[in-house]
Amino acid sequence: MNHALEPTDVDMLEMGRLVLDHVVDIVAKIDARPVDNVANGNVLGPLVDEFLAPPPETPGDVRQLLDRLDRASLNAWEASGAGNFAYIPSGGLFTSALAEFYARALNRFGGVAFVAPGLIAAEESVVRWLAHDVCGLPAGSGGLLMTGGSMANFSAVVTARETRLGENIEQGTIYVTRHTHRSVAKAARMAGIRRDNVREVPSTASLAMDMDAARAMIESDKRAGLRPFLIVGSAGTTDTGAIDPLTHMAKVAADHDLWCHVDGAYGGLFRLTERGRDRLSGMALADSVTLDPHKSLFLPFGTGALLVRDPRLLFAAHNETGAYQQDYVSTGGLPDYALLGPELSREVRGLRVWLPLHVHGVAAFRAQLDEKLDLAELVYEKLRLVPSLEVPWRPMLSTVVFRVRALASGDADEATRRLLDCILADGRFSLSSTELDGRQAIRICILANRTHAGHVVELMDLITSAVPE
Ligand SMILES: *Cc1c(COP(=O)(O)O)cnc(C)c1O
Repeated sequence: MNHALEPTDVDMLEMGRLVLDHVVDIVAKIDARPVDNVANGNVLGPLVDEFLAPPPETPGDVRQLLDRLDRASLNAWEASGAGNFAYIPSGGLFTSALAEFYARALNRFGGVAFVAPGLIAAEESVVRWLAHDVCGLPAGSGGLLMTGGSMANFSAVVTARETRLGENIEQGTIYVTRHTHRSVAKAARMAGIRRDNVREVPSTASLAMDMDAARAMIESDKRAGLRPFLIVGSAGTTDTGAIDPLTHMAKVAADHDLWCHVDGAYGGLFRLTERGRDRLSGMALADSVTLDPHKSLFLPFGTGALLVRDPRLLFAAHNETGAYQQDYVSTGGLPDYALLGPELSREVRGLRVWLPLHVHGVAAFRAQLDEKLDLAELVYEKLRLVPSLEVPWRPMLSTVVFRVRALASGDADEATRRLLDCILADGRFSLSSTELDGRQAIRICILANRTHAGHVVELMDLITSAVPE
């Protein structure tokens, strides 16, 4: 009998300790490493080739394999580093990784409730907390955890389409702005919506959807025989954190019988703070909301959430049962997540949110998010004092966007690009850029839990010393 795939408890402990040693060593030294550790040229090629090699027939040594993996892991961006302000940083909370190890090692099935009701209840407690306490949706709301915001937006579009259009989808139109995350257009394509039928509503000077224009477009599309069925608001755009007028949007949606989806992948969880709750009050009026705990709850990549006012509509949009599922039984009022989304087999996904919330307590997350809002205000106030910079938008969340002021001499876009190159060349910080109003801009997104005032002050010093005279 060959037991090669079943380690003894002694082996499990030894391998587990080895993995833990490696992880703790790397994580504990995160502050000592630059944010971008990707090698170039003659180091990168051989490394990639080495790891592209197919697996061997014969067993390997875990110690050596972990040493090898470390080399690959260290040749990477520190997505959770204190100096990461690029795109949307992620926290990578250790307690979430531990919960994930626990869940994976025990390998309970998370697709239906009756095979692991206690664990599904733990996951459902997270879903209900996100739906009620965070989004402000009413009792009876629910949803499911998915692998990210893109998947959540996808199921939201499918549910809106199914609910509002049924089978007749040819004339269905969707309303977004140019600042809406591209995952919504991608979701629309995957949901069978014509590319032309994703309408770009103009934005106001504050980069939010112009609701008068939206109303006019919807009415004109209706007159033209189209079927407007979905409007998507951003609860924090990825570019600038601008917030669409969600309350007004819900009203327009109700007046025209559209599904109102709020994409809060970046900003929705700021509702844990008082300022966020205030600025995102309209979120509670949505039919569905996307949140991304792997962004603003600081979890490792792989956890998004779709929260809906009426989970029965999720079920109606996704459920197809096969005869092999005839033994499924509903358990204790718990949902079967496999019937609410595209996936069947899945892990018990909720533990990686549940454990951090229970270990650290909600207040710790609220304090972190409040700190990020404060830091963004600080950055805004500092950069505004630099004469050669333009900081056009006061941050609504934790992102500040700035650019080099247009001067008579020289190209402002080029100067902005040069400034970004200069900041990146320093090596301590990672920032990304975007285009707004047809002009280049640099983004500072403050969202890693390791980022504190000291890091932000260092970055400000660097920027002020690098700006053109
Ligand atoms: C990141 C983001 C998404 C996509 O989420 P993933 O988790 O990366 O799939 C969608 N919408 C917004 C506003 C985002 O910031």
